[in-house]
Amino acid sequence: MGETMRAMRLHAIGKPLELDRIERPQPQAGQVQVRVLACGVCRTDLHLIDGELEKPEFPRIPGHEIVGEVTGLGEGIEGLSVGDRVGVPWLGWTCGECEQCRAGRENLCSKARFTGYTLDGGYAEYCVADARYCFPIDTDDPEASAPLLCAGLIGYRTWRMAGGDEPRKLGIYGFGAAAHILAQLALSRGQEIYAFTRPGDTQAQEFARRLGAAWAGGSDENPPDTLDAALLFAPVGELVPAALSHVRPGARVVSGGIHMSDIPSFPYHLLWEERSLHSVANLTRHDGEAFLALAPKVPIRTETRAYPLEEANQALEDLREGRLSGAAVLIP
Ligand SMILES: [Zn+2]
Ligand SMILES: [Zn+2]
Repeated sequence: MGETMRAMRLHAIGKPLELDRIERPQPQAGQVQVRVLACGVCRTDLHLIDGELEKPEFPRIPGHEIVGEVTGLGEGIEGLSVGDRVGVPWLGWTCGECEQCRAGRENLCSKARFTGYTLDGGYAEYCVADARYCFPIDTDDPEASAPLLCAGLIGYRTWRMAGGDEPRKLGIYGFGAAAHILAQLALSRGQEIYAFTRPGDTQAQEFARRLGAAWAGGSDENPPDTLDAALLFAPVGELVPAALSHVRPGARVVSGGIHMSDIPSFPYHLLWEERSLHSVANLTRHDGEAFLALAPKVPIRTETRAYPLEEANQALEDLREGRLSGAAVLIP
């Protein structure tokens, strides 16, 4: 064995991650080797571990909110050098040839590969990544920047799909990592935030109010006003009819998650009057470039809780149980 590294790997669905010492990955042509400085913990990692996504190959290293430093270059790399800081997002590779790719919808490429899911990710001391999908990221605080790579990017795409800064009263269901980032962007554009949390989660409601939400309450409560759009970040199907019932005619309800429990049946009149329901799948590199340029201008300040790499299972449980305000970040 050459140089080694520590990694938290998933060996089977439903099992805790195991701390393994394995060979350090070497960059192939077109790839960079990245020393992981921080890696955010995302709800998608829970969906992967719980078997709610199609199974990848095992063992697998999760983690797709990576901020790191380039430590090695494969053949043919242009524009990145050893020592550069980069962000490695969920979208790890696309074919570039299919109709979706050629139409600028690489997020929908059927051959796409995903960091921390179908490719090894950042719950490790090192990873490799296709250089074309890495974002140069100018940060001296990797822990604070890591959640921008998914919670931020996917949240941004969800917000854009709901009309960007056009809706005045914006409902947000699930006030975790994505919501706390998006709320800052929305508030900077003069939008009003209506935050829905798990019923009785007064801590999350206080967090939302502290960030500037006009109203915060349980997802079983009625907001004081009709909403102009709603973003869903909680993976709970019951929230879809609830959100549709609180938005005005013509409004959009957009779900940002990769997985959601079944949506219960609901009367057509909730969708009637040109309300619409959308999902967001993955991200494009354009989303990443646009959002990462925007974040420092807002400026977006993330709230994080740091965990050592070997405490990844604890971080995942804290996320599952709603014990976090903001985002969990692993520091190898
Ligand atoms: Zn994610
Ligand atoms: Zn493609």
